Amino acid sequence: MKIETGKRVELIDITEHVRDHVTQSDVKQGICVISTRHTTTAIIVNENEAGLRDDILSLLERFVPENVSYAHNRIDNNAHAHLRAVLLGSSETLRVINGKLVLGTWQSIFFAELDGPRKRIVDITVIGK
Ligand code: ZN
Repeated sequence: MKIETGKRVELIDITEHVRDHVTQSDVKQGICVISTRHTTTAIIVNENEAGLRDDILSLLERFVPENVSYAHNRIDNNAHAHLRAVLLGSSETLRVINGKLVLGTWQSIFFAELDGPRKRIVDITVIGK
């Protein structure tokens, strides 16, 4: 799946797109892996509530501030984005039962852009029978 992000840092809800992939895969029982190919993006599962989305981005700013000296910034000025991606992780694995993606009531799947805006690729792999 291709995503063109519009901001420097943002969380994009990709839940419906992943659900469509699961439906089209015809897998009834299995797993779905959502993974990003980039080193300054991440995949997370959490609640899609506007305040919480802002809180997650502020948490990242507090944990890994942008204006600090990092070794990687000698060659590329985006060490903070790589480090935030390390903390969040590059993939999530979810169950597929009876042909449906299993998510809790308040769970959504987000693509986290940490050094945008850019063109990005997310891989959605459904495995099972
Ligand atoms: Zn870099």
